[in-house]
Amino acid sequence: MKVTKGIRTLDDLPLEGRRVFMRVDFNCPLTPEGRVDDDTRIQAALPSIRFAVENGARLVLASHLGRPKGKRVPELSMQPIGERLAEILNKEVFLPEDCVGDGPRKVIMERVEGEVVLLENLRWAPEEQKNDEVFAQRLANLADVYVNDAFGAAHRAHASVAAIAKNFGHKGAGLLMLKELSFLGKLTGSPEHPYVVVVGGAKVSDKLGVLTNLLGKVDAILIGGAMANTFLAAQGHNVGKSRIEADKLDVAKNLLSKARSRNVDILLPSDVVTATAMEDEAVTDTVGIDNVPAGSMILDIGSETCARYAARLAPAKTVFWNGPMGVFEKAPFLFGTEAVGKAIAHSSATSVVGGGDTVAATGKLGLRPFFSHVSTGGGASLEFLEGRELPGVEALRDED
Ligand code: ADP
Ligand code: MG
Repeated sequence: MKVTKGIRTLDDLPLEGRRVFMRVDFNCPLTPEGRVDDDTRIQAALPSIRFAVENGARLVLASHLGRPKGKRVPELSMQPIGERLAEILNKEVFLPEDCVGDGPRKVIMERVEGEVVLLENLRWAPEEQKNDEVFAQRLANLADVYVNDAFGAAHRAHASVAAIAKNFGHKGAGLLMLKELSFLGKLTGSPEHPYVVVVGGAKVSDKLGVLTNLLGKVDAILIGGAMANTFLAAQGHNVGKSRIEADKLDVAKNLLSKARSRNVDILLPSDVVTATAMEDEAVTDTVGIDNVPAGSMILDIGSETCARYAARLAPAKTVFWNGPMGVFEKAPFLFGTEAVGKAIAHSSATSVVGGGDTVAATGKLGLRPFFSHVSTGGGASLEFLEGRELPGVEALRDED
């Protein structure tokens, strides 16, 4: 089934003069002084916001911010987000003091076409994360049309993403949501071959579901990061003091044998960068995987491995990358992530990058513009690729 089947888009929805409730993901990191530290998520929602404003909507934006756990935590007010948005749009953003009730209703009723309201933090209300029907109805009462553009929250069955939708005759996906679904849908639908997946990062357990689901579709899986250490240990290599998941050795072996039986190549590092400390000043040594010193940790893939991985990536037509190849936060261990990122960027593949740290690493390396799609939803993109239904997406489908 096409991932967007039965889902209407902004083009299909009546917007002019209507109160449009748009769920966005404005969960931006804040500075200690409470200002927006990184506005990537606001930027990502701008195409839908601009479209709605230009088409005469009375726009009601709603998001969660941080983890206030159902309490009115003033430090997690949407106010700094509203200020940043107003700067970007060069337009007043009206901020009621709550997300439901008479206050917001009055602020919204006073708006004319093209004006923008930003509701207070949805998670100040304990009902939001409980997917509470009555709360969802109170949110829905504020508007005539429902749009979900918060892909990053689509894997949550929360009131503003799930229960709310059935209260609207007019509902649909925003532009960011559609873009995410169409690129991620390519990875699970009928991708062009060769299809190569690059995984790394912290844990095998985080990404096992995705690997298992994609095993039937991909040609090769290239593994790096701490994740590779667990696979190397499972194969009997001595990994010294490297970070591994000792309880996942069987799982790793199992995946290797499943891949063999499906003719999927799993590539593991043949050389690695080691050190005794995870520091910017660390003294490093690049060694073959059978020569890792007992007191050292594997903190990046080696140059030979980079070259092998790059050679597999060069002819690829579809690439999904999740997880850095090493401890990219520290200069001596950034090289593997950089080499793999550049190899993907240089290929002619449709390339999709996901995962909070991977996206941060590609930003640091200036590589983001060279990928076809950089996913904004860490957890949501992984759940999608595991083959699970996302409550926030299912809620948007027309019933027939
Ligand atoms: P993402 O957020 O992109 O999904 P993860 O959270 O799974 O990625 O993993 C990122 C973390 O993995 C980074 O903090 C990085 O330092 C760490 N990491 C990568 N390689 C290693 C390694 N060899 N040893 C220890 N930690 C590693
Ligand atoms: Mg992470």
